[in-house]
Amino acid sequence: MASKVKPLLPLLGAFAVSCGGGKPAGPNIVYVFPDQFRNQALSFWNDPDFAGAQNWQADPSHTPRLNAFARESVVLSRATSACPLSSPYRGMFLTGMYPERNGIYNNCMATRPDNTLDPDAECISDVFSAHGWDCGYIGKLHAEVPMKNDPDNPGNYVSSRRPEWDAYTPPSRRHGFNYWYSYGTFDVHRNPHYWDTEGKRHDPHEFSVKHETDKAISYIMNRGGERDPRKPFFLCVAYNPPHQPYGKVEDLESEEDLALYADKSLSELYVRENADTTMPKAPSIRYYLANVTAVDRNFGRILDALKEAGLEENTIVVFTSDHGETMCSHGTADPKNSIWTESFTVPFMIRWPSHLPPRVDSVMLSSTDIMPTLLSMAGLRRQIPSRVQGRDLSRILEGKSENRPDKALYLRCTNGPKDADGLVRTFFQEARGIKTPEWTMEVCMKRDTTLKSVMIFNDVTDPYQMHPISPEERPEVFQSLLDDLQEELERTSDVWAREKILSRLFRSKP
Ligand code: CA
Repeated sequence: MASKVKPLLPLLGAFAVSCGGGKPAGPNIVYVFPDQFRNQALSFWNDPDFAGAQNWQADPSHTPRLNAFARESVVLSRATSACPLSSPYRGMFLTGMYPERNGIYNNCMATRPDNTLDPDAECISDVFSAHGWDCGYIGKLHAEVPMKNDPDNPGNYVSSRRPEWDAYTPPSRRHGFNYWYSYGTFDVHRNPHYWDTEGKRHDPHEFSVKHETDKAISYIMNRGGERDPRKPFFLCVAYNPPHQPYGKVEDLESEEDLALYADKSLSELYVRENADTTMPKAPSIRYYLANVTAVDRNFGRILDALKEAGLEENTIVVFTSDHGETMCSHGTADPKNSIWTESFTVPFMIRWPSHLPPRVDSVMLSSTDIMPTLLSMAGLRRQIPSRVQGRDLSRILEGKSENRPDKALYLRCTNGPKDADGLVRTFFQEARGIKTPEWTMEVCMKRDTTLKSVMIFNDVTDPYQMHPISPEERPEVFQSLLDDLQEELERTSDVWAREKILSRLFRSKP
């Protein structure tokens, strides 16, 4: 087993379950994260009781369950995905560490053979498992390099696609998750597949979100004996929609979801001033929002199951996403992997009825902060691994602390040169950026490590990021943002700080 956690399971498990006898077990944690679900798709931001929390218009989406959930939750208005791509996000969520420490710089695929979750990294699930939690993972993992380990076809990849993207994760690499119903990455929403705890493949031929929700409900209700009922549980549900494809009815759960948007004009659906509705992608917003609605409905079914099982009070429920979706904003066809607010910011709502009074909080939670924050909330503050780089924000979410992070780091790592076999083994640390309550800045370098570009936006006066400000226009702002960026690069021991990349920009330290 990859975990470095020593096998104190029986003793500590008993502690977590009984907590010295008498105290209730738990809490349980249910962590739901659809893929590419942007913060702007949460329509409650437009509601009067959220007025002032955002200075932009949210999409005209139909999300009744999420809107109700928001009113029961601490809703973060400025959560970010530090490296807004599927695999890097998952690496940071699972380990609380940035790519250089967790091993995932870019999306996992076979031609990036070393780009994979470090099997020895101590993951959030390793810690929960070692301290008495039952751990389940359902849905898209996309944190493993594809290997020739198909359980049904030994010595081969799991599909004939080249290069291979999908992956099977054997038990030795599951990091404490004892219940497994997952896959690497695969984008046919009505024909998903999964490998279960024993490595048996399932092809259910139904919409993935619906199917994974059924599995999650069965786990919560323990209908099939999926979990040890004496233990609290940590359950991850990783939906793929509203990730693309989003272009036809076959990409959706039902035509009824599409009907909510089908008759609306593009000018009604695109409320953000920065969107280019002449792009070929533009009509796909109807399908994107239809899957936002499908996620909303199925997430609601998970909430219903928790209530029915009597677990609502003592279960922490998180709804978030791995990154956003630009959806024709800024004229880019790339939905993610950029510092644009539609890509970089994410939904983050956390509900724990007995502990977290509902409210909006603008704390700048980043992807690496999630692991230490959840462990701490669950009573495992002292068990946060020492290599974790994220911050424990549990006291802030509980409304107890004044020491609030006021900036969030952004990273972009693109492919390094291919080797003689056509494989990518190193990554080019192309860009770093910083977001503060007022500003967004990205600094980008050329391959020869000289400065390529600086992009600065005032997110208060220019919420749609349509008016870039040059460093020459506002030198004092530029310097202040460089200072913020430098502080984060040094705090996280980033390669830009260690190797003094573009060091002439930054203030020299004595
Ligand atoms: Ca993704």
